[in-house]
Amino acid sequence: MKKNYLFTPGPTMVPQEVLLAEATPLIHHRTAAFSAIMEEAARGLKMLFGTEQDVYMITGSGTAAMEAAVANVCSPGDKVLFAGGGKFAERWGELAHAFRCNVVEIPVEWGKSLTVEQVRAALKAHPDARALYITQSETSTGALTDVQAVAALTRKTNVLLGVDSITGIGVHPFRFDEWGVDIAVSGSQKGCMTPPGLSFIAVSPRTWKAVEACTSPRYYLDLTAMKKSWSKTTTPFTAAISLIRGLRTALKMIQEEGLDQVHARHARLAGAVRAAVKALGLRLVAEHPVNGVTAVWGPEGMDTEKLIKLLASKYGVTIAEGQDDLKGKVFRIGHMGYVGEADMLVAIGSLERALKELGHRFDFGAGVRAAMTALGDTENGEGS
Ligand SMILES: *Cc1c(COP(=O)(O)O)cnc(C)c1O
Repeated sequence: MKKNYLFTPGPTMVPQEVLLAEATPLIHHRTAAFSAIMEEAARGLKMLFGTEQDVYMITGSGTAAMEAAVANVCSPGDKVLFAGGGKFAERWGELAHAFRCNVVEIPVEWGKSLTVEQVRAALKAHPDARALYITQSETSTGALTDVQAVAALTRKTNVLLGVDSITGIGVHPFRFDEWGVDIAVSGSQKGCMTPPGLSFIAVSPRTWKAVEACTSPRYYLDLTAMKKSWSKTTTPFTAAISLIRGLRTALKMIQEEGLDQVHARHARLAGAVRAAVKALGLRLVAEHPVNGVTAVWGPEGMDTEKLIKLLASKYGVTIAEGQDDLKGKVFRIGHMGYVGEADMLVAIGSLERALKELGHRFDFGAGVRAAMTALGDTENGEGS
């Protein structure tokens, strides 16, 4: 018997409570009973986003909400800024190109984080830009962007701030209203402990003016249609009934644990993984790392694809590859959502065994030891 663990930065492991909620017999989506379920899920999403605004649920993976965030706001020819620095950051640029915008990249080296100085300079050089799109948690490199600091600048201008918080929300604090973010998107299969297939979008009051003026074509992802339907607590098209049921359960679990505690747990798990890989003589890709995923440079000369295959086939531990230029050089351990402290010992212990088998020389056991030390002394109540 081989037990399987999913330590990828999406999809993530789904609690049994959520799976069971999704397995219940279907009800119709245009009913009071389903509206009540959706309303509860929407309340949970508002808590996660830190907003009093409506958060819409779109049937589609995270990129669907990203597309909605561009298609409803940016017209052909509009100047659109985006920060690079990773596979997902670049998706903002690709989307803006697809909608025929005049795209300006703020270049960020992969592994580095966008700085406030870069944003200040870009806003000064391009005060006529419609929007700036950034990525809170860059899943390809594990780099964190300080959204609050960026929003402090954009909110004083006419440039709207769009944030990909797909692996941020549910892992790192996010305060849409308080920070002055204009558009934020997330997805179900990361910190929200739900299978893939749902994405979420929040829109600020000042963004709605841009939505009204926007001439880009959209139909399925039309925010105005979503808003109109949501005033009757329903969706423009058939809702993903089972997924929304699962999401409602997952959000209830997050609320029961307490959002602050959920964030603190992710910080603790990330700290343990960082300490462990350093103890194995390995380096992180990110200068300022996120708490939902850790991207690590493989040992000199080792093909990380081999390492990842061995971990999955022999140990049942699935971690993620490096993407694009990082392929074969980097591995990524996801630790977001339904992940506890003991899970990290499984991940690190298995990683050590696989690394050893592939010839990496290190103090065998040092990673697990470092992780346990970082997790703290449970007798003092720190590690519980
Ligand atoms: C997963 C992810 C996405 C969305 O990817 P989908 O495959 O469309 O769900 C976007 N941005 C980041 C940072 C992600 O981690």
